[in-house]
Amino acid sequence: MFLLPEVYWEIKKTKNKGRGVFANKPIRQGVVIGDYVGKVVQLKDVDFEKEKKNLYLMYYDDETGIYPDLKKPGIYLLNHSCSPNCWITKFRNHTIVFALKNIRKGSELTISYLLPPKMTCNPCSHNCLCKSDSCTGSMHLTEDGYNTWQKFQNELHRGRAAKYLSDSSTYARSSSRQSRQGILKQNKGGKKDIPETQGIGSELKPLKNYPKVISKKLIREIKMLQTKLYR
Ligand SMILES: [Zn+2]
Ligand SMILES: [Zn+2]
Repeated sequence: MFLLPEVYWEIKKTKNKGRGVFANKPIRQGVVIGDYVGKVVQLKDVDFEKEKKNLYLMYYDDETGIYPDLKKPGIYLLNHSCSPNCWITKFRNHTIVFALKNIRKGSELTISYLLPPKMTCNPCSHNCLCKSDSCTGSMHLTEDGYNTWQKFQNELHRGRAAKYLSDSSTYARSSSRQSRQGILKQNKGGKKDIPETQGIGSELKPLKNYPKVISKKLIREIKMLQTKLYR
């Protein structure tokens, strides 16, 4: 689900990566782009042969993932890059995507898929074609890289997220006037936040409120993390 109004993006065919999402207007660093919503599925029920080709599943934890509704435009359409201009972060049981850099009009929006090490994927079809300077040739992280990312995410989830996301200057929810405009207007979803025990097989409902912008502090930390994942 996109939170960023539709005037900012469009879905187009790419040369060799299927569909992709492109900026229709400049997007500022830190701006929240969308929420990875879909059906909560158990990994043991996922058809991984099919999934390997499309890579639409978002891993939530070791046992569950989120599978998007492919009939609707969504964050799942963002392609992978080893030098992405967007990144993901957990927010109240949701996975939100934000601009890691200032994005120029016409650029493709990309994220790193942060796939677990290649050895668990055989045969592997996740070659990366991003051709950026830091391209590793694969969408998989190294074992070290994956552990570093997991550790970072767990720490963030254990409470530091609040520090980064609910800062009054960056969190749209803190102003009711603000929250009636712009990005938050897009979300007419659930009445209350999703509890931890979201049931398997049910749709992850949109939250009532989302941060509009991610703090500079979190962006700095992610950029540092990025240099460890993509040397
Ligand atoms: Zn693979
Ligand atoms: Zn690459």
